Amino acid sequence: MDYAAVTPPAAGEPMGNEFVLVPAGEARAVQVASGGRFRVVDVEGGQVVDLFAFAVGDVGEYASAEHTRVAVNRLFPRVGEAFVTNRRRPVLWLDEDGSPGVHDMLCAACDPVRYRLLGVDGWHPSCQENLQRVMAGLGHDRIEVPQPINLFMAVRVEPDGSFAWSPAPTRAGDGVVLRAALDCVVVASACPQDRNEINHYRPTPIGIELLPAAPAPSSRRPPSP
Ligand SMILES: [Zn+2]
Repeated sequence: MDYAAVTPPAAGEPMGNEFVLVPAGEARAVQVASGGRFRVVDVEGGQVVDLFAFAVGDVGEYASAEHTRVAVNRLFPRVGEAFVTNRRRPVLWLDEDGSPGVHDMLCAACDPVRYRLLGVDGWHPSCQENLQRVMAGLGHDRIEVPQPINLFMAVRVEPDGSFAWSPAPTRAGDGVVLRAALDCVVVASACPQDRNEINHYRPTPIGIELLPAAPAPSSRRPPSP
């Protein structure tokens, strides 16, 4: 079972937060109650995380990068803004960013076809299959594979519209703090991409740390209509 944790500690509980290590190239899920906070950590640095979130009770509602781009009126996320679902409801808030602040909301999750096109002969792990496997383990055999939130992924758009790809700029221990706006199942995939530079050709582990409750920051920007 890949289902790692249920509810974050209550306010005022001592340290000893639950930490879920996600091995290189794999994915894990945590369930986070509305208001619950967690940190996604790049354990060794230079690693992209494909992050997904599904509403508890209706996995047909999920964090959607394309809907979020409209809600925030930007291509990439920043602190104080919410990721929204395909039904345009906030699902996660980006409360803190202890990384270089480079994240992507443009690229699909890697999948078996992507690796085949990159010249891989035979099976290769992928974020799509990681997500499907973890969700199947929770009883959800048939899910939409949303466009993920690609934490720490360095893709920028050049003036001529082309992409510029760079290795993830994170250092060991960098992370972002997210807060659930809905009860949701969060899946984090330590992207197994080793055929281009995004993970420095060397996928490494990530972590999900469940944090104690804390007041929401005052710097929030409400989603646009
Ligand atoms: Zn991937």
